[in-house]
Amino acid sequence: MKAPFPGEIDRRLLNERSVSGRIGLQLQELDVPEQPLPDARLLRSIEARLPEVSQPEVVRYFTTLSAMNFSIDTNFYPLGSCTMKHNPKVNEEMAFLPGMASIHPNQPDETVQGALQLIWELQQDLGEITGLPGVCLGPLAGAQGEYSGLMIARAYFQDRGDANRTVALMPDSAHGTNPASAAMAGLEVVTVPSDSEGNVDVEALRGLVDERTCVFMLTLPSTLGLFEPNILEITNIVHEAGGLVYADGANLNALLGIVKLGDLGFDIAHSNLHKTFSTPHGGGGPGAGPVLVSETLAPYLPTPVVVRDADTYRFGAPDKTVGRVNGFHGSFGVLVRAYAYIRAIGAEGMREVSENAIINANYIRTALAGEFGIAADRVCMHECVLSPQAQKAKGVSALDISKRLIDYGIHPPTMYFPLIVPEALMVEPTETETKDTLDRFIAVMRQINKEIDSDPDLLHDAPHDTPNTRLDEANAARHPYLRWQPDEDLTAVG
Ligand SMILES: *Cc1c(COP(=O)(O)O)cnc(C)c1O
Repeated sequence: MKAPFPGEIDRRLLNERSVSGRIGLQLQELDVPEQPLPDARLLRSIEARLPEVSQPEVVRYFTTLSAMNFSIDTNFYPLGSCTMKHNPKVNEEMAFLPGMASIHPNQPDETVQGALQLIWELQQDLGEITGLPGVCLGPLAGAQGEYSGLMIARAYFQDRGDANRTVALMPDSAHGTNPASAAMAGLEVVTVPSDSEGNVDVEALRGLVDERTCVFMLTLPSTLGLFEPNILEITNIVHEAGGLVYADGANLNALLGIVKLGDLGFDIAHSNLHKTFSTPHGGGGPGAGPVLVSETLAPYLPTPVVVRDADTYRFGAPDKTVGRVNGFHGSFGVLVRAYAYIRAIGAEGMREVSENAIINANYIRTALAGEFGIAADRVCMHECVLSPQAQKAKGVSALDISKRLIDYGIHPPTMYFPLIVPEALMVEPTETETKDTLDRFIAVMRQINKEIDSDPDLLHDAPHDTPNTRLDEANAARHPYLRWQPDEDLTAVG
């Protein structure tokens, strides 16, 4: 990516651009009675030293900053395990309709029937898509969906007088949030190894399940981008031991319209609407990680869920609910986007999404397998995991390859995950990328592979052409600037 600027980037911070007396907008005359200030104890004692800048200067500052960022709206973004797919812009418009965006969460139910109907229908749709009919849209993220699902499992066993089931089993390829959520839910995490093919080691699982097993958590497709071929045997083993099976369905875009989690024997799942169902993510914006359960577990769902009585809708609490998982009703705007997306593409479109996601990932896998090595070289789902160990032996790491990709205008794939793959580069093209984009990515990867032999330092120092070149990542992680820093010498600047 060549810097999108015709010349030097003005790197001054806003406070460095400040000139005393310069203002960015004109305040109107006060047309309401002046109000007394609140209690002095609530007021700041020091004067806020805000930058004084003109409006064009503020606009240029933030526009420049935004252009220095990499985004899905400017470049290819094949970030595996985190589905950075195209989110149709029309769904943004739907979420911003005044009737959606301006309603208040405390409005009486009878004044928000449309919104309640939307939530109810989305509960039905997601129940149908996953084959898990008990749905609560409340959780605000995938991790919160996991936590809610595990609390449901615990409540279910406690209710049955089986409170000793406190072990959460999960494969060594699990997404990091899985063990974290299990620990938060008070469960003991026990790891199940993968076999040489990248599948769950079924015999090891058989040896680990017992009367303490609460739940087996499985990401499907696995974080290696693979469908678990022994899934029916796995769900059977866990059920026979009296445990429940949890599907991490954060990224469902290889399964939509093809297979239902419920049909595979899963009892509980979550899905990330901000990955699979059309909410942009990556910028720290709102998300939604609905929790989905079988009929049997539906009474334990968090509250609130929307209930329909004849033709009116209201918030309700399931009989044995595990309680609230957050304030109000979840991320309503995210639910609107998911609803609009599902209604627009329909059941047929859903299946097409998955087929294209799978075809795109396999196109890349087969094109690059010879040069980069694949973690498990068989038909993959929506992502494939490269393992460039031969390149590493020549002194070039997965990190170097990722950084060099940035010079070509491509966002790095997910790196060094899953942890069980050496030098992992996890590539997810998503269903909406064109063949041209995939061909360019393949060509760039081949070019980089040539550079590894001809000029390895080109990779060691990459990226070269970006507003910021290689960062000191340890420092960036340990000492980040998270907010504007007041400058003591503000008035001296400019
Ligand atoms: C993203 C992701 C999660 C966590 O979702 P958050 O919304 O970030 O909490 C869990 N599992 C998998 C497989 C994921 O890709």
